[in-house]
Amino acid sequence: GMLLGKRYESTAAESDASSPPPTGEKYEYQAEVSRLMDLIVNSLYSNKEVFLRELISNASDACDKLRFLSVTEPALLKDNVDFDIRIQTDKDNGIVTITDTGIGMTRQELIDCLGTIAQSGTAKFLKALKDSKDAGGDNNLIGQFGVGFYSAFLVADRVVVSTKSPKSDKQYVWEGEANASSYTIREETEADKVIPRGTRLTLYLKRDDKGFAHPEKIQKLVKNYSQFVSFPIYTWQEKG
Ligand code: ADP
Ligand code: MG
Repeated sequence: GMLLGKRYESTAAESDASSPPPTGEKYEYQAEVSRLMDLIVNSLYSNKEVFLRELISNASDACDKLRFLSVTEPALLKDNVDFDIRIQTDKDNGIVTITDTGIGMTRQELIDCLGTIAQSGTAKFLKALKDSKDAGGDNNLIGQFGVGFYSAFLVADRVVVSTKSPKSDKQYVWEGEANASSYTIREETEADKVIPRGTRLTLYLKRDDKGFAHPEKIQKLVKNYSQFVSFPIYTWQEKG
């Protein structure tokens, strides 16, 4: 909608002064993912806050995976032995950023993990949805099965994932929008966005969901949903 148009205008204006905006390579979602995205984006599901639990659980899984591998291969840690999850809120711009120091993803893993349905929970969700007779049945199913990464689109109309795997010497950026049938992947080129390892997810919140960019709201959700995560979760807000 209008918000998207505005954002692109400002990006173009900024980049006029420097380099052209980076354009990623375009990929189509697997048909099932498109269907899932449609459902999530158009869903009347009211318990949208589950997105944070899903994304923290992914960050925690990513830390677990790297911690396990690093036992036999300490070099994978790249001089940073800390495993943590950082959630930054920018309430003026309606942006939430979730950063972990976990295993990250290679370019191929981005395609395999965030463009297709590999995970069983989501496959079960789609199956249950097919079986469910009542219209609007997705309302309860989203919460029941969890829709993983794609739950970001419950609250965000644009999601950017910048990620660095210890298996790759490059950092890649996945970018997807609600209501789009494709996503893009490009190499991270902005120096201030380079991370030694792990993943940073940036959620550009929908107009009606910008309340999730308030630090008190995030802290409350972290307390409710993620108190048993075994890595520290830090929250802070962008200085205005
Ligand atoms: P699940 O967590 O059940 O596998 P998700 O949809 O939540 O399903 O995530 C899909 C996959 O994307 C994960 O299995 C993982 O491989 C990858 N992924 C998601 N978030 C991250 C992250 N923060 N760091 C590394 N990999 C991730
Ligand atoms: Mg998950």
